[in-house]
Amino acid sequence: MDKHQAEKRLKELRLLLEDYGYHYYVLDTPKVPDSEYDRLMNELLQLEADYPDLVTEDSPSVRIGGPPAPSFKKVAHRVPMMSLSNAFNEEDLRAFDRRVRQAVGEHVSYVCELKFDGLAVSLTYENGKLVRGATRGDGTIGEDITNNLRTVPAIPLRLKQPYSIEVRGEAYMPKASFERLNEAKEQAGEEKFANPRNAAAGSLRQLDPKIAAKRNLSLFAYSIGEVEGKNVQTHFDSLMFLKELGFKVNEEAAKCETIEDVIAYTEKWSERRHELPYEIDGVVVKVNSLADHEKLGFTAKSPRWATAFKFPAEEVLTVLRDIELNV
Ligand code: NAD
Repeated sequence: MDKHQAEKRLKELRLLLEDYGYHYYVLDTPKVPDSEYDRLMNELLQLEADYPDLVTEDSPSVRIGGPPAPSFKKVAHRVPMMSLSNAFNEEDLRAFDRRVRQAVGEHVSYVCELKFDGLAVSLTYENGKLVRGATRGDGTIGEDITNNLRTVPAIPLRLKQPYSIEVRGEAYMPKASFERLNEAKEQAGEEKFANPRNAAAGSLRQLDPKIAAKRNLSLFAYSIGEVEGKNVQTHFDSLMFLKELGFKVNEEAAKCETIEDVIAYTEKWSERRHELPYEIDGVVVKVNSLADHEKLGFTAKSPRWATAFKFPAEEVLTVLRDIELNV
């Protein structure tokens, strides 16, 4: 493809991704499967890497999430809520590991966590008391959904120790609650939610907290934005600390000493994801040492100390299984 063709294709891709992003992040009703969005985003990233002078400031490749809806009060995140770089196969994971070791040395170890398919939220506690809950929004400005988040039973309203802390986690709808909700919607002749992620996001971005209260939502806490008066050295220790404070922390989080262990973890959960009572769309791999996080830093959009391994798209898997079975 020559530069002129690349410019034309980039324009098309940006328009498509903007439109899909708007439906996904703002309206909570995706137009296409995630795999299609990811495929187009990868094509965009590749073209921008081939023609760096064609990168624009407003390209979907440099944007996080979507803008906050005008119906909610806006919340500025003191520490930005970023996106994650993606890995789609073993080679991408090995390349991530090489980049990390080049930057911080050979001693590195990782924490693997499930990538819950819900909505990223920020919870601010002052002296142990929940004072604010917000969506990620565009990473810098989110929506104030405190009253909705207060209805989620897994979110402590008061911590077990009176810390002032900003906690991040994934709000989600368990599969069973999602199925019940869609059955009820069908009986009422209402439009069903596309998936549990959209159902969770749609429930939390309602103005009436009674709706969120009825939706059986839950939350896994997965990181600390900032904390006063507590010194934590590793990501794994932050998870343990969050648990001590009273948060629900996912039991499958595991320390992995090498990239081989990380790959084994992604393979295990790629096979077993359907056994879980909630949806996951991959595995998040994070460098364990927080001092290494400092050294690695961030790109415009995501930390260099983490990556999200995405499972192969389900629809592709179904086709492959059908081919294998000759049906
Ligand atoms: P992301 O999927 O790249 O990853 C970042 C998010 O992972 C965080 O914000 C957090 O919410 C989540 N997460 C879950 N478990 C986590 C854990 N254990 N630790 C840390 N974070 C965890 O997020 P993004 O930037 O919102 O992503 C883009 C993705 O959204 C795309 O890859 C695509 O699949 C999907 N998308 C789909 C459409 C569509 O039209 N179908 C449109 C836009 C985006």
